[in-house]
Amino acid sequence: MTKMTDLQTPFMPNWCPGCGNMPLWLAFKNAAVKQGWDNTNTAVVAGIGCHGHLVNFTKLTAFEGLHGRALPAATGIKIANNSLNVFVFTGDGDCFGEGGNHFIHACRRNHNLTVILHDNGLYALTTGQSSPITPHDAKTKSTPFGNPDEPFNPLVMAIASGATFVARAYASNMAQLTELMIKANQHNGFSFIDVLQPCETFNKQFTHPFFQENTYYLEESYDPTNREIALTRAREFDLKKIPLGIFYEEKKPAYEDQLGYLNGEILYKHGTQKRDMSSLFAKYI
Ligand code: SF4
Repeated sequence: MTKMTDLQTPFMPNWCPGCGNMPLWLAFKNAAVKQGWDNTNTAVVAGIGCHGHLVNFTKLTAFEGLHGRALPAATGIKIANNSLNVFVFTGDGDCFGEGGNHFIHACRRNHNLTVILHDNGLYALTTGQSSPITPHDAKTKSTPFGNPDEPFNPLVMAIASGATFVARAYASNMAQLTELMIKANQHNGFSFIDVLQPCETFNKQFTHPFFQENTYYLEESYDPTNREIALTRAREFDLKKIPLGIFYEEKKPAYEDQLGYLNGEILYKHGTQKRDMSSLFAKYI
C-alpha cells in the first residue's frame, strides 16, 4: 500500500502560483496511492521543461532525460524490466519539438508506456516561446507578430502514428485525470494523455477560465474503438468547444509482448548469466 507521505521528497514544488502542473502532479500522486505505485514497481521519466521538475517532487524511481529524449530512456527501461509501470512526463515543446521523432516511433511500436503530455501551448521554462502546439497567429515571445506555423494536433499525431490509447484531459479536473491515468496505465500498449495544463505566467490565452469555459466531455455513447471517428473527434479542437475523454482505444499486442527472446522473463535478469564470448571475439580479433 502506498501512502501520500511515501511519495514525498525533501523538495517542495517551485512552480508559479496557479500553474497547471500542480493539479496534474497531485492527480498523479492520487493515482499512485490508489494503485500502490511505489519505488519498487514504478519508474517515472521526464524530459526538460517546467514539467520535468515533477521527478524532484515525487519519490519514485526517476530519470530526467535530455531535452526531448525522455521516450528513448523510457523504452529502454521498459524493455529492461517489463514488470515496471513506466510513466513519461513531457511538455509540448519537449515531446513534439526536440522529441517529435521519438514520439512517432514509440507510438508506431506500441511500447507499453504511459505518456503524459503537459500541454501548455508553448516553451515555458525558457519564458514563453512558441512550440509546435502553439496556435497559428498566436503572439509569443518568439512570434511577436503572430505565429506563422501551423500547429500539430497531439491527439491526431498519436492516433495516426499507432498509439493504442489516446485521451485528453484538463489538469484541474483532478478526479477525472486520476481515473484516466489509472486507465492509461492499465492499458497494454502505448497510452497517451494530452493534459491541457495552463501556464498562467506566459500563456495568456490558455488559462484556467478559458479551459473551464471551453471544454466538455465526450458523450457517454461515444465509441472509442473506431479509429476514423476518433480522428474526426480529435480534430474538433476549435478553441470554443474542446472535447475531453478517451478518444481511441485498441487492443493489440504491445511491443514488449512480442520480444520472443524474453520468453516471458525479465531482460535485466538474463544479464546476470555469464556467457563464454571467446569464440565470438576470436572471429574479430
Ligand atoms: Fe508553470 Fe508556466 Fe510557471 Fe512554468 S512558467 S511553472 S509552466 S506557470
